[in-house]
This record gives sequence, C-alpha cells and structure tokens, in this order.
Amino acid sequence: MVIVMSPDATETQITRVIKYIEDRDFTADVSRGEERTVIGILEDPTPLRNLPVEALPGVEKIVSVGHPFKLVTRAFKPEDTIVDISHVPIGATNIVIIAGPCAVESEKQMRDTAQFVRKLGVTILRGGAFKPRTSPHTFRGLGEEGLRSLAATKKKTGLPVVTEVMSSEQIKLVSRYADMLQVGTRNMQNFQLLQEIGETSKPVLLKRGMSATIEEWLLAAEYILRSGNYNVVLCERGIRTFETYTRNTLDLSAIPLVKKISHLPIIVDPSHATGRRDLIIPMSRAAIAAGADGLLLEVHPNPEEALSDGSQSLSFSEFKELMNQITKIAKAVNRPLC
Ligand code: PEP
Ligand code: MN
Repeated sequence: MVIVMSPDATETQITRVIKYIEDRDFTADVSRGEERTVIGILEDPTPLRNLPVEALPGVEKIVSVGHPFKLVTRAFKPEDTIVDISHVPIGATNIVIIAGPCAVESEKQMRDTAQFVRKLGVTILRGGAFKPRTSPHTFRGLGEEGLRSLAATKKKTGLPVVTEVMSSEQIKLVSRYADMLQVGTRNMQNFQLLQEIGETSKPVLLKRGMSATIEEWLLAAEYILRSGNYNVVLCERGIRTFETYTRNTLDLSAIPLVKKISHLPIIVDPSHATGRRDLIIPMSRAAIAAGADGLLLEVHPNPEEALSDGSQSLSFSEFKELMNQITKIAKAVNRPLC
C-alpha cells in the first residue's frame, strides 16, 4: 500500500501521517519526489484498510500496489531512478555501454581492452575477479589480484569498474576496488548477500536469475532497497528455456515490462543471454530499440585464448562494428550513447 501525499502537503502533515503509521507498528518508507511525497507501507496493509488514513490532512490518495514488492514500483516512486556510477549516470537519457572481458586474466589484458573500448564510447569497464563457474575444474578468477588489476586499469583510463561479488564475506574487499557491485545470476536469490549489499551505498548491478520470473527478480531488488540502498540497476541476461541453440533465451519483453512496473534502470547482457558471438550485435540492437538503458558486453583481445566465455566474447574488430551499429540505433530512439 502506498500513501500519495498531495503536492501542497505541509511537512507537519507528512510527519503526522508517518507517525500515524508508525504508532500502529507499520514501517513507513518515505520517498520525497520533486512534485510530491509518497509513503510506502512495507508490511501487509490489511489492518490499515479499515482505518481512515485517506482522511488524514494532506493525503491525496491511497494506491494499492497489487504486487508483492513496493519500493521498486512506480507507485512508490513515479520518476525514473538514475544510478550514478562514479559520474556515469545509468537510467538517464543517454545509453551506457559497459564492456570488458568475462574474467580479469592480467593487468595487460585489462589495460589493452579498456584503452580500446574507451575510444569507442564505452564508459564503464567490466571484468570478473571472482568467477562463479559451473565446473570447479575451470578458471575461477584471480581474486584480489584481479581486483588490483581492475583498480590499476581504472587509474590509467579513468573508466569506473563493475565486478562480481559472490558472497557476503567479499563485500568489503570488492567494495574497496569496485565502483559497482555485480550480483550474478546464480546469486540473485542469495538473500543474505542482497541484504548486506543493501546495507552499503555502492551501486549494484542485479542480474536476473536464470530461472527467475520477473516478480522474483524485482523481489530480489526489493531486498536491496529495503536495506536502504536504492542504487540498483537491473540486468536482463537471458533465462533457461527448452531452446538449446542459444545458451539462454533473451527475454526482451522484460525491458518494457519492468520499465512499466519499476523506476529502476534496466540494462541487457546479450553475451550471456545468447552465448554466441554471431548473435550479440543483432540482440544489442534489439535491446536498445526495446528501451534498455544500456548494455553489458564481453569483449576480449583474443577470444580464442580467453580463460572463460571465449565463444561469446567479441574480438576488438567485432566490438568496433557493434559500436558502429548501435550508435545508429541509439540515435534513432533519441538516446545517444553517453
Ligand atoms: C558475468 O557477467 O560475468 C556472469 C557470470 O554473468 P551471469 O551471472 O549473468 O552468468
Ligand atoms: Mn562471462
């Protein structure tokens, strides 16, 4: 349930409504928008329905959200959320391209990649230092050494970095080096991790669980917001279906649907969604046309030698072609690259 205050509600009236709610043991989550203040009730609001909340001075209307989540909804916050990644805004007019290798393999690999992609208009660098791998026999990342390479590359190129955090214990360490924390598909329902990340103020890239419904995904985001961190960017990265010709199935319909329900920015990762280099460009174009706020792409100086996800990583020349094509689509939808 969301209480929408009228645009001319006074501070005293707002405070009185909050007190009214809290006196009845409900939690009031207050969102002060440019035009009006909105108060969300986090618990089951059924007992409040019989009380004259709507009659309190300054209350314009009561909106029943009709979803199990509240803080992520537009009913709670009508205007788009813009998440600032060390001065790169995601969710504003400009489309943001995040690119880099699947895994950090060396400082040189990161530097070469960053210098190349930056010239083409990429504004955030990616690279995993802690890699969640299906097989324990494969490369699982350089750990802190990888984080140091990311930080060194950032220093050289000025590009902020996003990297994955796999457990609560890693939050502090990864936060020291990263501008944005990535929660991977396998951890989307690690509720302890979500809560603890929510207790920080670091921007979060929340990937959709490979078997998660949109509702479950938004509830995962709700965990982070509920802990106090509103800097969440959603990332559609494909879901498991019966199709075997692609690694996952890219759910492009999630973009306009999430935009309708939620104020959070949403980006698309066509690399993990398709698992195939030859499909990345068309899916990137489609994602931008469908309204995505940005893309997350895997690119490697030498994909054949990549220690992980080589078959979906673009070479430099392929990446250049991608940027060339999406620049045109982005302009066509009036959202030029930033
Ligand atoms: C990644 O982006 O490095 C990654 C592991 O992605 P996902 O969690 O979507 O599989
Ligand atoms: Mn990968």
